[in-house]
Amino acid sequence: MLKVHLTGHDKYYGLTDVIRLWFDGSVEDKESCEILCPAGPDIRIESILQEDGSSICRTDDGRVYKPLGTPLEPGREIKRSLYLAMKDITGREAAWGCLTGIRPTLVAMEADSEEVLIRDYYVRPDKAHLAMETAKEEMRLLDLIPEEDISIYVGIPFCPSRCTYCSFISEDITKHMDRLAYYEQALEKEIRLLSPRINRSIASLYIGGGTPTVLEDKEFASLLDCVMSSFRLAKGTEITVEAGRPDTLTDYKLEVMRSHGINRICINPQTMNSATLVRLNRKHTADDIRYWYGKASDMGFSVINMDLIAGLPGETPEDLLSSVRSLIGLDPKNITIHTLYKKRRANISKAEVMDRGGERKGIDEALQEAYGLLHKAGYHPYYMYRQKDTEKGLENTGFAKGDTGCLYNVAMMTDYRDVLSFGAGSSSKRCFRQEGPDSKRRVERCSTIKDALGYIARFEEMARKKADFFGF
Ligand code: SF4
Repeated sequence: MLKVHLTGHDKYYGLTDVIRLWFDGSVEDKESCEILCPAGPDIRIESILQEDGSSICRTDDGRVYKPLGTPLEPGREIKRSLYLAMKDITGREAAWGCLTGIRPTLVAMEADSEEVLIRDYYVRPDKAHLAMETAKEEMRLLDLIPEEDISIYVGIPFCPSRCTYCSFISEDITKHMDRLAYYEQALEKEIRLLSPRINRSIASLYIGGGTPTVLEDKEFASLLDCVMSSFRLAKGTEITVEAGRPDTLTDYKLEVMRSHGINRICINPQTMNSATLVRLNRKHTADDIRYWYGKASDMGFSVINMDLIAGLPGETPEDLLSSVRSLIGLDPKNITIHTLYKKRRANISKAEVMDRGGERKGIDEALQEAYGLLHKAGYHPYYMYRQKDTEKGLENTGFAKGDTGCLYNVAMMTDYRDVLSFGAGSSSKRCFRQEGPDSKRRVERCSTIKDALGYIARFEEMARKKADFFGF
């Protein structure tokens, strides 16, 4: 069993995140000031925070690990000394080095150079390059969003069937059809209650889920009527609808989106391998994706995004690359590649998602090759985030052609712009500039009740809560 003893600090959480890059199942034992990991090798490591704020790790067989490079704040020092020890003990490094957080581009913005990410955080050079390239584009897009503006999210947490890997709040409407209409009505009421009080310009609007296009034609049109008549949107404002599952699309819904001025839609295959789609419990084929993409494209939607997932169960690296090539052939303006991650509620096992032992080769390499294909086809990365429990801690990256990066995604994923969200399970946030030379940010969040039935009963209370939160 791996034991990590904490001396001079109590950063259990950060160290557990580092151990998780190699082994699951760590537990904290605060009485003995130790993190215990039965899946790890039989060794005891002492993680020491020294008086000068630096950190070393010492193993019980006498090895000492002391990071070189620029001194970091104590929380990061402790993580990087343990990273050095774990890398040496396991003989395997992590693509993102000791960066375990969900926002590597925030660190890249601070570091301001690939060399610093490589030297101080042990990030692999290709990831350091990706992080810097993405961070620069994120900052450029952020500059297009005035700080006093707000972005809006409207959420429909329902889907026609549950994908096996799904971890989102997503009711199966095949069982709860009756709830969907009531939910849509409650959502409209919440929008009508709160929208007149918004005293800020709206930078972008995103209707997401779940799958918003799961609504019946009439309800879908009613929701778009409500949204477009309630929010004061300047001409040309980015408005996205996630039409993620092509099995929910109809000619009518595409026409309604077009006539309401929706200028960005997502048609998400996740893979262009139809056999995998069946295994994932998605009720559509790769041909359905081509068909609806072609229709939407012919109707003139200016930006179409298509999502893929790397590391789907049963897929080889070549399957991912084949999907990437298919999408490049369709030529959407945006392509986003996620890495499969495991959350508690998903129907697939952790073993299907992650390969902690390092025997399964290929996802990391396939991602690198996919990024190369995208670059060659004229796409550049514009936003990025990571989730815990992905294979090798790998990332999710949005790619765009030209100036089509999604402003909402950038506003949502950074700590720099406010987002007001409507609907069950949605989260609003306010970003504050901290006083001081390092201009760090503070983010406050306001969550809405997750359960759709609870939301239907309590949407007025949710609207009041958010009005207080934003001071409307
Ligand atoms: S479409 Fe998306 S939100 Fe819906 S079940 Fe599948 S993964 Fe989950």
